[in-house]
Amino acid sequence: MPESTASLYPSPRSRVQAMKEYHPPLGNRDTLRLDFNENTLACSPKVLETLARISTGELTRYPEREPVEAIVAAHLGLAPSQVALTNGVDEAIHVLFEAFLDSGDELLIPVPTYTMYEVYASSTDARVVTVQAAKDFQFPFERLMAAITSRTKVIAIANPNSPCGSVATRAQILELARQAPQAVILVDEAYFHFHGETVVDLIGKIPNLVVARTFSKAYGLAGLRLGMLAGPVELMRWVRRVLSPYSVNSLALACLSPALQDDAYIDWYVGEVLAARAAFEAALDAAEVRRWPSRANFVLVDIGARHLEFVRLMRTAGVLVRDRSIDPGCNGCVRITIGTRQQMQHAVSALNQALAAMRTTGESQ
Ligand code: PMP
Repeated sequence: MPESTASLYPSPRSRVQAMKEYHPPLGNRDTLRLDFNENTLACSPKVLETLARISTGELTRYPEREPVEAIVAAHLGLAPSQVALTNGVDEAIHVLFEAFLDSGDELLIPVPTYTMYEVYASSTDARVVTVQAAKDFQFPFERLMAAITSRTKVIAIANPNSPCGSVATRAQILELARQAPQAVILVDEAYFHFHGETVVDLIGKIPNLVVARTFSKAYGLAGLRLGMLAGPVELMRWVRRVLSPYSVNSLALACLSPALQDDAYIDWYVGEVLAARAAFEAALDAAEVRRWPSRANFVLVDIGARHLEFVRLMRTAGVLVRDRSIDPGCNGCVRITIGTRQQMQHAVSALNQALAAMRTTGESQ
């Protein structure tokens, strides 16, 4: 924009001007979606039944979140005052950072990791300190410990981590929390169901531990935007000051309880994904595609220099996968979400076709 035009408009804060634009490729996804780590099939039928019964009363009234927070708290063995529902985990991250990250503070994150930590931190006056994982993408525990300073105010740990699927152990999380008592340790358990390990039971026992969970992944409700943050009451009261009382809509609130109660559905879907992940990993090994071990519903693979061509060929075959090459240390890498066994059979044939096409054109070049 020319200076003369730009000056006609009020300018945003300098931190906002310096923020990177973030446009996830959300368009034209009406095919096999192995690109955003969503549930690739459906939510529980109990949720659909609830949506079909939504009353005009529920739509005309402002949403009331407290009774639903009590339900989710009971489900997790926590007190309602320790739990806040949010508009997806993204809002949980946003409000936590708004509440705790001040000028001069540091957000400490291992990288590669979930993009939105850096996005939300960059709109605050804090500094982002990144710790690069080694080539094996294991959780860089020792280096994170070494990077803690008196300014460290939040340490964000996606567990399992995206895009690589690696995990931090409970002992490592506890050690970080002990080493940085002045910092909030955010453990983002978005992919908890595929990993099976949690630190939710430590909420309230460790004064600086908070845990985020989402209904966007295993529960299949990414479109409803429903997440939560759990932590000690003494931290959650500040989060609640920043959090809008209206940000979780009535449809999402109505669906939470039926989603939580349908254990059979979640057990089935998670079992399906874990079986599909094992079969897909075996197919990657057979095709000699380098991959990293994953505890989540996705696998990171190393395609090499022709990663964009691979993503394009997969799309042509009706399978969306996500290029992660610009993530730190991920040059040539593509992340593939794991769906059901049947869906992943389709993905395997698309993958083998794409690799074969690339070999053919590679040889003739
Ligand atoms: N945390 C992690 C680690 C994620 O990968 C994602 C989704 N890609 C989120 C949070 C966002 O979850 P939600 O849809 O609840 O905002």
